[in-house]
Formats: sequence, C-alpha cells, structure tokens
Amino acid sequence: MREYTKQFINGEWRDSASGEAIDVVNPATGEVFGKVARGNSEDVDKAVEAAHNVYVEFRNSSVEERRAMLDRIAKEYENRKDDLIEAITDELGSPIEKSEKIHYQMGLNHFAAARDALENFEFEEQRGDDLVVKEAMGVAGLITPWNFPTNQTSLKLSAAFAAGSPVVLKPSEETPFAAVILAEIFEAADVPKGVFNLVNGDGDGVGTPLSEHSKVRMMSFTGSGRTGSKIMQKASVDFKKVSLELGGKSPLIILNDADVDQAAYTAVQKVVNNSGQVCTAGTRTLIPESMKDEFLDKVKAQMDLIKVGNPRAEGVKMGPLISQKQYDTVQSYINKGVEEGANLYYGGPERPDGLDKGFFVKPTVFTDVDNQMDIAQEEIFGPVMSVITYKNLDEAIEIANETKYGLAGYVFGEDQETLKKVARSIEAGTVEINGAPGSPNLPFGGYKQSGIGREWGDFGIEEFLEVKSIKGYFA
Ligand code: NAD
Repeated sequence: MREYTKQFINGEWRDSASGEAIDVVNPATGEVFGKVARGNSEDVDKAVEAAHNVYVEFRNSSVEERRAMLDRIAKEYENRKDDLIEAITDELGSPIEKSEKIHYQMGLNHFAAARDALENFEFEEQRGDDLVVKEAMGVAGLITPWNFPTNQTSLKLSAAFAAGSPVVLKPSEETPFAAVILAEIFEAADVPKGVFNLVNGDGDGVGTPLSEHSKVRMMSFTGSGRTGSKIMQKASVDFKKVSLELGGKSPLIILNDADVDQAAYTAVQKVVNNSGQVCTAGTRTLIPESMKDEFLDKVKAQMDLIKVGNPRAEGVKMGPLISQKQYDTVQSYINKGVEEGANLYYGGPERPDGLDKGFFVKPTVFTDVDNQMDIAQEEIFGPVMSVITYKNLDEAIEIANETKYGLAGYVFGEDQETLKKVARSIEAGTVEINGAPGSPNLPFGGYKQSGIGREWGDFGIEEFLEVKSIKGYFA
C-alpha cells in the first residue's frame, strides 16, 4: 500500500491541513492500492506563499544556474527510473513496457529539451537605444490530468524552471504517485526551497483555490474543456494568464496513394495507445471509398494483435482505462454508436473475455460513420475508431476540419505536394505526415476548443515569461 499523506511545501514534507486522504485505485484490479493527501485551501495558501517568497530571487537566477538545475534533475530522474515505471504501471494501468518507453522517457525528454532550449534562448534583445527583456511572470499554478503522469507534469515543470518561475503543482488525484516521486527527485536535485511545491488533492479542494489565488500570476492547465473553462473563469477575476491544453478528436486522413499497411498499422496504434486515453488520438479515420474494404481487412488484422490485459503480463499491448467512470463513459459511447446507426465492425460493449475485474474495454471500430454523429464529434477518450469514407480530397479536408477541436491531424500518402497541401489545410496545432516521429522541441497545443497557448521546448518557456521594454537603456 502506497501512502503519501504529506504535501511538499517550501522544501519540506508537511502534513496536509485537512488530515484527510484520498483512496487511489489500481485500474487493472479495481482495488484501492494507495492513499494520497486530500489538500485544501490552507495547503494552497502555504504553497503559494512559499513560491511567492522566492519568486524574485528565482526570476533573477542566471540561465547557467537554471541549466545546471535542469541537468541535476535529469540525472536524479534517471536514478529513479524503476520507481517511476512501477508507479505509472500501478496508478495508470499502462503496460509496463510502455511505462518505460513512453511515459518515463517523455518526462526525461522534457527536462533535457528545456535545458537545451536555454542554450540559445534570447531573454534580452537590444533594439536601438532600447532593451526588450523577457522575465518570469511570477508564481505559476500547474494542474495536470491522469493520462500521462510524468509527461504532463514534466513538460510544464521543465518550462517553468527554465523560465525562472516558481510553481505550485496539483497533479491528478487519480495518478498522484509519479508526481510524489518527482518531488523527491527535485529535493535530491537541490531545487531551491519554495521553487517547487506539490499540493495533492482534488479539483474542488485544491484546483479551485489555486486558480483563484491572488498571488498566482499564471495558470497552466491540461485536462478537459469543462475544467479548463472553470479555471479560465476563476483566473479571469484578477486577469491571470491562462495556458490550456484540452481535448481533441483528431482526423487521420489516408490518401489514395497511401501505403495501406503502414496506414492501418498507425491508425490502430493511434487509437489503442494508452487505451485511447490520449488527447491527440487519431480517432476519426478518413479513407477513400474505393480503399475501404482493403483498409478494414488490414485494420482487423492489426487489432487482432492487440492483446488486452494485466499491465505486468508479457506481450500485453493495452491495459485498462483509468477508472470506473471512464469505463462507463466509453461503454456509453459504444452503445451510442450502435444507436446512431454506425456499423460495429470490431470489438463492442462489455469487457474482453476473461477480464472480469478492472476497467478493461475492447478496442472497437465503427464503420459507416457520419461525421455529424456524436461518436465522430465528441472526445471518447477510449480505444474507439470511427471510420469515415470520402469521395475526393476537398471533401476529406472539409470533414477533417468539421470539428470543434484542433489539436492534431495525421496524413498518409506518397505524393509530396498533396501531403503538404493536406498538412497545411488541417486546422490543428500538430500535423504528422506518414507517422513522422517529431521531437520535444516542437511546439505543442491546440486550435479552437483544444486550447490556448503552446508547450514544449522554447515555446513552452515563452508561456511563463512577461515581456518588458526598457526605453533608453543604451542611450
Ligand atoms: P479533468 O479536467 O477532469 O481533470 C484534470 C485536472 O483538473 C485534475 O488534476 C483535476 O483534479 C483538476 N480539476 C478538476 N476540477 C477542477 C476545478 N474545478 N478547478 C481546478 N482543477 C480541477 O481531466 P481528466 O479527466 O483528468 O483528463 C482528461 C482530459 O484531458 C481529456 O479531455 C483530454 O483530452 C485532456 N488532455 C489534454 C491534453 C492536451 O495536451 N491537450 C493532454 C492530456 C489530456
């Protein structure tokens, strides 16, 4: 049983003011396997005060000091590799191999990318007799979701640290243990007292008072649009800056000259990775009518290879969903797809055979989907693919953009000019051509209701900075 009922405030582990704890459930068993502090506004006040007390000093620290700090963090992070992988596997239900290759690695990559971005980052620029200075804006409140416990936290933390911004982090109460290990990593890496503060708890108890706090200058949030909107409203009262990374319903467009094997493989991976609990999941698969049958045969063959089960068992490719609530949501969308008249081609409702506890679902494919159906418009956040056919390229682009979201898009094909045209036409913050891997230095964020602002690398650092003009500095 993991028990972390203390908060990390001003460089110390302190009892939470409430004296209460939240049960944390292992999604592969459905059983409680740990407890974490249930923070409240008193904890938030102390944490914000600690960050506020050091913000001028940290803002004025040298770039070299901050680079060295990010280096120490990366080393300590590597030292805790096994612990992080264990925690993520237990709290998220991620297959252990993916906990290492995806979750552990993404967190590490962000600390390295922020350190590297600092090498050439221009904090100051002379313009004639005048100086333009970029400086950390003050205390940042960070609120993160459960689907990537090290990625979501590390990308915000690395950028804030690189910028010189002290933080108060509230991770998801459903996956809090990786964040506790991060706090231990920062402690071991000699992150100055007050620069990093961790307040565990739920949205109402910790998220709301953090978003409202008058000494917090910026809120950086990743999670659902519903919560993002509440945070924005709270933050608007005293005009805090907000950076929001929200949901998606991303199109994956297969062009008529695409390698169908590669497209089918990637389309399936984009839907089953992390049990479909990925904001950039390519869940709307757009395929020319003439290629539908061949493509679906290959999708079926790929889906047959996705072994669902215990995250610690060998060969398992897909673990459970995070919670009973998420299980119920995904089931309701699968049932809705049938009611809406889509054709259930693969998978379907209920648990996979032989898995009678835990929040496991079947990877599911709907065909004959109309883009106006709810299963094509709403973010399901589970392994459910909607296959939509199109007649010509213009129609494909129109369908791709017919969504309130704009987080990501994918395109597969041969002809370079067509690929580039489609990539430029998709209204989304990231477009991937033929499965290109990208890097943590690229900006990440959404158009439309997928968010406000950009994270990762130098773009992420910019989010935590104010810009000041000093006239006559060189006169
Ligand atoms: P959520 O919005 O329910 O919770 C996210 C965080 O907000 C949690 O830490 C939660 O405790 C906190 N929270 C809840 N209510 C709050 C309130 N009133 N005030 C302040 N904080 C509050 O989201 P979730 O279910 O944890 O995550 C799933 C969602 O996150 C999906 O919609 C997904 O698309 C989105 N997401 C987006 C990205 C991205 O980068 N765009 C990445 C991952 C997840």
